[in-house]
Amino acid sequence: MASFFETPIEYLKGVGPQRSSLLNKELNIFTFGDLIQYYPFRHEDRVKFYAINDIYDEMPYVQVKGTLLRKEIIGTGFKKRLVASISDGTDELELVWFQGIAWIQDKIKTGVQYVVFGKPTRYGSKFNIAHPEIELLTPKNEKGGTLYPVYSLTEKLKGKHVDSKAIAKLMQELLAKAADHIRETLPRSATDKFKLISKKEALQHIHFPQTIEQLAQAQQRLKFEELFYIQLRLLKMKVVRQEKFRGQVFQDTRLLTAFYNDHLPFALTDAQKKVIREIYTDLKSGKQMNRLVQGDVGSGKTIVAFICMLVVAAGNAQAAFMAPTEILAQQHYKNLKRYADSMQLPIALLTGSTKKSERKVIHEGLLSGELKILIGTHALLEEEVQFNNLGLSIIDEQHRFGVAQRSKLWQKNVDIYPHILVMTATPIPRTLAMTLYGDLDISTIDQLPAGRKPIKTLHKFDAHRLQVNEFLRKEIAKGRQVYMVYPLIEESEKLDLKHLEDGYESVCRAFPEVAVSIVHGRMKPEAKDFEMARFIKNETKIMVATTVIEVGVDVPNASVMVIENAERFGLSQLHQLRGRVGRGAEQSYCILMTNSKLGADSKTRIETMVRTTNGFDIAETDLKLRGPGDLMGTQQSGALDLLVADLAKDGAILQEARELAKEILRDDPELDKPENKLIRTQIDSMRKTVVNWSRIS
Ligand code: ADP
Ligand code: MG
Repeated sequence: MASFFETPIEYLKGVGPQRSSLLNKELNIFTFGDLIQYYPFRHEDRVKFYAINDIYDEMPYVQVKGTLLRKEIIGTGFKKRLVASISDGTDELELVWFQGIAWIQDKIKTGVQYVVFGKPTRYGSKFNIAHPEIELLTPKNEKGGTLYPVYSLTEKLKGKHVDSKAIAKLMQELLAKAADHIRETLPRSATDKFKLISKKEALQHIHFPQTIEQLAQAQQRLKFEELFYIQLRLLKMKVVRQEKFRGQVFQDTRLLTAFYNDHLPFALTDAQKKVIREIYTDLKSGKQMNRLVQGDVGSGKTIVAFICMLVVAAGNAQAAFMAPTEILAQQHYKNLKRYADSMQLPIALLTGSTKKSERKVIHEGLLSGELKILIGTHALLEEEVQFNNLGLSIIDEQHRFGVAQRSKLWQKNVDIYPHILVMTATPIPRTLAMTLYGDLDISTIDQLPAGRKPIKTLHKFDAHRLQVNEFLRKEIAKGRQVYMVYPLIEESEKLDLKHLEDGYESVCRAFPEVAVSIVHGRMKPEAKDFEMARFIKNETKIMVATTVIEVGVDVPNASVMVIENAERFGLSQLHQLRGRVGRGAEQSYCILMTNSKLGADSKTRIETMVRTTNGFDIAETDLKLRGPGDLMGTQQSGALDLLVADLAKDGAILQEARELAKEILRDDPELDKPENKLIRTQIDSMRKTVVNWSRIS
């Protein structure tokens, strides 16, 4: 039985086939349910009338009432306009129209009282409103209206006279019809505990609140509901997985202890130890691990990964480590091989450029189980790569891999899924992590190894170029190496390259005495690797590059990072780039070059970078500046298409909603107790909507 909310929108009075197809195409509104959930993005405050002499600068919108004193057409041609004046006894307010003059002039009459609404602008000591809304003062509107909903609409819709007023009218019609069909969607335990208004009231008040308080209550309620169901679904997935999927038990710590006692090149930080313990607990639990390890750049995730591999190897299983790029895979291989060799553990590297003959050897080693550790790129996912017994899959810098690729790695073991460890150096604010990775357990390495000197970050204007070059020369003379990063200016790949090549030439001119490398995304992999290798071997002193060096590259001797046009980079990206330096014992520097004119957001970004090196701090600021949808690596995630909630602002609600979801699942994992029937129904009906959406897009 189709529910009321699945009724096609064209059956609503006032819609009809033409408007219905407009609403389909422009706003993705197909059903009554879609429309009712098309929430206004703000409301015009028409609750009260302002006295004209109370109007002040920068008021968004005001509503006044008064008597029209005069009206006249002034100027000719382009400057022709209708100017009227209205008084409420406290002062006069000018009203101006540039278009539709004849029609308005006809409509308004001097000596008559009107209600006027619009955005005031100051002219000298007076205010005026251009193109105000104006209507006759009537007994109905003279006490002040309500809050008028403003909907986000396309130009095309507006062109066809579907404006906020029109949508509001449809909404009123719909809400009246829907009244008897709106079910409560949150359990009593939630509405009581968090003092939330009912679904029915919330839908009414999100569109047509009488007061600001009503609007706030409606938002609170709908945000809670939205976040609650997201969390419930994520947590339920986790519960199901934990119930269903066994994990191989790895608890033999002999290799780990041997490595720890005899070969560990440094003392682990407390944070590294804590995370290793968390992972070990999972490995021996008998349940499949799905864990995210977050750790700022340089926090030492690689060694943590290796130590976990040791536990798996001691249990006669294999480990795979997948990196997003060839360069990174090679680097991981180089680092891990040192550790593995010290333990006589066979290890291999598999990437797109691995030779056929080598591949064959690797494939055989994997199948026989002799090869214990495999490092590589997504080449690991290929069909021919078969393991004897894959016990642990590690995915580095996971935002570069899609969920689908992640799950392919799962399937590399036939009888029992491998344990999964996802590592990311992109610190994510808690609210985002709970939503993006809400189905994973999360470990955080929240400490850098001792003895690191904090990177000094400086902001310099392009005008200081000579001074900056002088500084670089001194650092190079001390034996250091320098990165110079150029932004990608998406509009034109050709221009980007030109920009980079110009940069390269001017660097070569400015530093004729040293060798300079250049790396960018459109070089052949071999050429790129060759240049990279020269820099790693310290044959070149300056590396001119695009953001290809952003992730994971580790050259401890490179201690200066110059970022050109730093204002063009997002905060998280700046932070990632800066993380390329500060890896050795020397004092490191990050120099942010910008031109002298900076917008407010750019300024905040640069100031934040200069102020702090804490990745979580930076991620929070980034989230506030850009909103969750734009944060690095999260673009594709439908999990962030929220209707009402805002992950940058609603952390507290999210926390409450997640706690409640946990509580409910703890008590009733299958959600089959009678008191949870409502939740079940709601989840099922949401599932249906998801299917609908995928059909549409
Ligand atoms: P990331 O977390 O960015 O992947 P890496 O694992 O590449 O960091 O480690 C960065 C550098 O710090 C490496 O050179 C590594 O050998 C070193 N390192 C890791 N842990 C420690 C530690 N506890 N003490 C000192 N150096 C460490
Ligand atoms: Mg790393």
